[in-house]
Amino acid sequence: MSDLLERLRARGWRLTSQRRVVAEVLDGDHVHLTADEVHARAADRLPEISRATVYNTLGELVTLGEVLEVATDGRAKRYDPNAHQPHQHLVCSACGTIRDVHPTGDPLAALPAAERFGFAVATAEVTYRGLCPACA
Ligand SMILES: [Zn+2]
Ligand SMILES: [Zn+2]
Repeated sequence: MSDLLERLRARGWRLTSQRRVVAEVLDGDHVHLTADEVHARAADRLPEISRATVYNTLGELVTLGEVLEVATDGRAKRYDPNAHQPHQHLVCSACGTIRDVHPTGDPLAALPAAERFGFAVATAEVTYRGLCPACA
């Protein structure tokens, strides 16, 4: 469980009804929604919520480090509340479904010193691609 709402409460983030709805929509496991999807779901619960409010709230959550932006090429950016547990993504190349996965081994450690070109390497992202069961 991503427990996004609990984390935000613990940080003392001011929970207006609009921000709460955005956080509720994002709460959960394997959640990777585009901003438009967040807006559509938030508007189901709070019809007056504007797209601008949703975008601003998402931006704030990303700045706080409580939500990750996930870029999957050729598709809209997605928002991922699983920000504190290191994980990688499994992406369906047909429908774009995304799963959080935890490969064995540390992808950062997997890059040999000789191939770091003097960089102080801080993070690594691995994307596994293929067809999900529904698309295969
Ligand atoms: Zn699929
Ligand atoms: Zn994720």
